Amino acid sequence: MPRPVRVRFAPSPTGLLHIGSAHTGLFNWLFARKEKGRFLLRIEDTDTARSRPEWVDAIFEVLEWMGMDWDEEVVYQSRRFDQHVSRAESLVEAGKAYRCYYLPEELEAKRQEALAEGRSWRNDRRYADITTAEAAALEAEGRKPVIRLKIPEGKTVFRDRILGEIAVENETIDDFVIVRSNGTPLYHLAVVADDVDMNVSHVIRGIDHVTNTTKHIHLFQALGAELPEFAHLPSILGEDKKKLSKRHGAVSVSEYRDAGYLPDAVVNFLSLLGWQTGDDQEFFTRAELMQRFSLDQVHKRDTVFDLRKFEWLNGQHIMTRSNEELWSLAQPFLEQAGLTGDGQADGLAVDHAYALAVVGLLRERCRTLADFAVQGRFFFTDDFEYNPKAVRKHWAKEPEAVSERVGWLRGEFAALEAFDADAVEGVVRDLSERHGLKAAQFIHPCRVALTGEMAGPSLFHLIAVLGQEACVDRLAKALDRLPDVVEQLAVGEG
Ligand code: GLU
Repeated sequence: MPRPVRVRFAPSPTGLLHIGSAHTGLFNWLFARKEKGRFLLRIEDTDTARSRPEWVDAIFEVLEWMGMDWDEEVVYQSRRFDQHVSRAESLVEAGKAYRCYYLPEELEAKRQEALAEGRSWRNDRRYADITTAEAAALEAEGRKPVIRLKIPEGKTVFRDRILGEIAVENETIDDFVIVRSNGTPLYHLAVVADDVDMNVSHVIRGIDHVTNTTKHIHLFQALGAELPEFAHLPSILGEDKKKLSKRHGAVSVSEYRDAGYLPDAVVNFLSLLGWQTGDDQEFFTRAELMQRFSLDQVHKRDTVFDLRKFEWLNGQHIMTRSNEELWSLAQPFLEQAGLTGDGQADGLAVDHAYALAVVGLLRERCRTLADFAVQGRFFFTDDFEYNPKAVRKHWAKEPEAVSERVGWLRGEFAALEAFDADAVEGVVRDLSERHGLKAAQFIHPCRVALTGEMAGPSLFHLIAVLGQEACVDRLAKALDRLPDVVEQLAVGEG
């Protein structure tokens, strides 16, 4: 019978959940869901100086946001201290670990001596087999023992699911400490004792932990526990091929959430870091990932965090959402920008139909939810600047002629009875024919007047959504301001 799949994600709550950590969590989650196993969550909070309850909450929040539901109760490592120590005690009783009474300075002296003679030092187990009376005498001297695991002779060999076979000579591993002289358990003991008690079948984690694995294997073996299968995930690098860090920009999942990334896009993007899908497909729904993801397709070479791809994927995921969904997702970003809600600027009336029409026009152009507030600003307020580039290109070359055209447009728009995209287009075509101009000679200056920008959604459609009153007002305002704006540009460039 194959072992039932039970994997764990074991983050340390010492800061916002890092992209690398979320990546590890995700690969565990996908594997568990694909294999119909269990995904367990363990909070590794034994480093009391660095762990904080708010970081624990931040982990829950991000996992929930990413849709990575966990099974069973959360395990807090710090609450399992007694189990860790009692495991160590049982190892001492079984003769697989021992109390070591060397003082740190004595060990240091031995290490130096060995170094001077060109030998490497491993604990000589001088205190491994002492009697109770000898131990009592040492303790009476004021010595407090640590507990060390006995590393057997030979070689440790294991097959990592991603890295392949790894072999380490045991003589390179010292009998390492599992309980400190103050009675507190060390990290390696805690991890392995927890993995044993949680009956973890597969340990999937970042490659930076691979060097710990031989130690862990010795602990599993000493505890008489079945070894889990190990899979060490590749490192995530920035585009400069250095390990992903703050220097590369946002490195925590919540920063991407706050920048308007969708959870499905984060899941999709992270899943591609190290997983070779076998074809060119890059866009995956969550359901597809749960079906297709395979640990056997994870490569061992480092993987690069490509922000442009992330943005593109986010745009693709945005396109799968209905206008209704996007409106509710984009709302917080619009509110934050003061465009809707209480902080609304000198806003235009935003009724639901208007909101949905705006989203409909912007959806193909937005790569993040925050983009709706940037690219869509002019839909919600009259208070926008004329982008100098747009002014230079479409107003400043022939300001008088442009003013004339804007004036014609204003007059015709104001006179329209049915104000829709077709009627507006009809106006532009008629005017250009009548005056022997190109439609573009109306369209571009008009866009600058109505939106401040030189690019954006289809002009006739955005005009229809903005409505007659707003368009006529903005054309009037542009007429009024155009000479000054053009002059300021010239001064600025002079
Ligand atoms: N707490 C460790 C980390 O956050 C994980 C240890 C493990 O997965 O064994 O990197």
